[in-house]
Amino acid sequence: EQAQLAKLRHRRTRTRDGVDIRLFANAESREDVAEAHALGADGIGLYRTEFLFLRRRELPDEEEQFLAYRDLVLGMAGRPVTIRTLDLGADKADHTGLSLRGEPNPALGLRGVRLSLAHPELFLTQLRAILRAAAYGPVRLLVPMIGSREEMLQVTRLLERARLDLEARDQQAGRRIELGAMIEVPAAALALPDFVDLLDFVSVGTNDLVQYLLAVDRNHELLSGLYTPRHPAVLRVLSELFAYGRRRSVPVAVCGEMAGDPANVPLLLALGLRDFSLHPSTLLEVRRAVRACDFARLRRRAASLLRAHDRDGIERWLRRA
Ligand code: PEP
Ligand code: MG
Repeated sequence: EQAQLAKLRHRRTRTRDGVDIRLFANAESREDVAEAHALGADGIGLYRTEFLFLRRRELPDEEEQFLAYRDLVLGMAGRPVTIRTLDLGADKADHTGLSLRGEPNPALGLRGVRLSLAHPELFLTQLRAILRAAAYGPVRLLVPMIGSREEMLQVTRLLERARLDLEARDQQAGRRIELGAMIEVPAAALALPDFVDLLDFVSVGTNDLVQYLLAVDRNHELLSGLYTPRHPAVLRVLSELFAYGRRRSVPVAVCGEMAGDPANVPLLLALGLRDFSLHPSTLLEVRRAVRACDFARLRRRAASLLRAHDRDGIERWLRRA
């Protein structure tokens, strides 16, 4: 079984009917990056930079961040690397004093891009470090918890500022950096057409999107039975996002846990997803699942999937697929 799986390291991620699917890796450590590269990931789809900020009191300065991001870029040897800006909040082990203490609703509070925009100097430091790393290979910048066009505009202005800072210092920056938004706030899923002109790509954070759509805490022990992407509302939102991305030629990936579960592969392909981002530990299993699927046949069955009224209906559809 393990040996069979290992053979897939050097195989393409292609459906039976010849459709290429891209598997990017979610990475948060050097080991993840090495593994992603060894398994033939198409790039890094989500690098969570909070890991540089957790469990410490002092903030990492520009140089420390730059060196970490540069290592990441070099580690992927020319494949694109998606660096997510800080998604810190009172829900994480933040000892830097940045996030508010005792927030009543940390998931709805000062986190993600909201925290970054509340501390522009901190955000500029991170943006400069990322721009500098982009001189070493293809970098995509991903912004978490975007909820509106206004926030995205503030990000683009600060990115411009960071670039000017580097120019003034005569420091090298990547010439072109792709800009993307995480779609995880339901309002952003609905309002995507209002700010898509500011984006090169989109990554759907289903961990939070499911939490916010269903109003179910993603970590609540007693509610784990309610917390699932297999809800008709979730599938409809995903289907709309994927269709919109196709119409506008904006790549749409899913980087939440649901993309790393091989059992969800037929469902996501049926809805039209082609870009997955997942932890390297399940990459080969997902590749195997993709290779067992017939993309065109699944797409023909999307309508019946979207007609499911409940989780049972979705799971019945999956068993037949
Ligand atoms: C998500 O919300 O789906 C996501 C990938 O981000 P995180 O799990 O870091 O919130
Ligand atoms: Mg998230």
